[in-house]
Amino acid sequence: MEESKLKLSIAHLYPKLLNLYGDMGNIITLMKRCEWRGITVEYREVNVGDNIKENDLYFIGGGQDKQQQDVAAELYKNKDFLHNERDNGAVFLGICGGYQLFGHYYQPFEGEKLAGISLMDAYTVAGKKRFIGNVTVETEFLNPNTLVGFENHSGLTYLQGDTKPIGKIIVGSGNNGEDGTEGARYKNVFGTYLHGSLLPKNPHFADYLIELALEKRYGERFKLANLDDSLEFQTHKSLVGKAY
Ligand code: GLN
Repeated sequence: MEESKLKLSIAHLYPKLLNLYGDMGNIITLMKRCEWRGITVEYREVNVGDNIKENDLYFIGGGQDKQQQDVAAELYKNKDFLHNERDNGAVFLGICGGYQLFGHYYQPFEGEKLAGISLMDAYTVAGKKRFIGNVTVETEFLNPNTLVGFENHSGLTYLQGDTKPIGKIIVGSGNNGEDGTEGARYKNVFGTYLHGSLLPKNPHFADYLIELALEKRYGERFKLANLDDSLEFQTHKSLVGKAY
């Protein structure tokens, strides 16, 4: 099927609460990379009190502990629906605070434990130290095999069972600053600590997510047409391996 006949629905979960460090740039990248190929995107903003309808791709950004509390309650109301979406192959991308809520719980440094929605087998506890800085990750599923971004979190995330890391930390702290892992994946659910925002500097990961979402919608794997990503990869390469 020609790309110009393809459609994709993208839900942005609670952008008024979780949109730290320009995480909106991820939605803009996904939409632009579809638009440039003639793929029609139906963008749906999901705010507090909204019912969540079926989508091909879900995005949730990062935020401070307080905003996470408000979102955690909303997400939990939709837990069963989102589990079905995950099991039907929907793609999820959660950044930092949103990523933490994909697990079983997030225990802030102070205050009540926040129940997560267990889309992946992971949990997060806040530590005393804040991890802030540039990050380079080495993956096994992307070409080029690196991801670059910026982290700012005190949460320490630990993966269990079939939930595997997105990659190995080359520069930065990643999930917990101890086990050398960054991010997580279970089925088509992805979480990462990389702000930046992530996808503008990692177009290969953006296309990987779009292809997975199209496969979920149409039941077949598409290889997207190449775009001129010379500027994006010039930026990407300039950041690989750089702490400062
Ligand atoms: N409040 C969480 C933490 O500090 C997430 C922060 C974020 O989204 N950048 O770990």
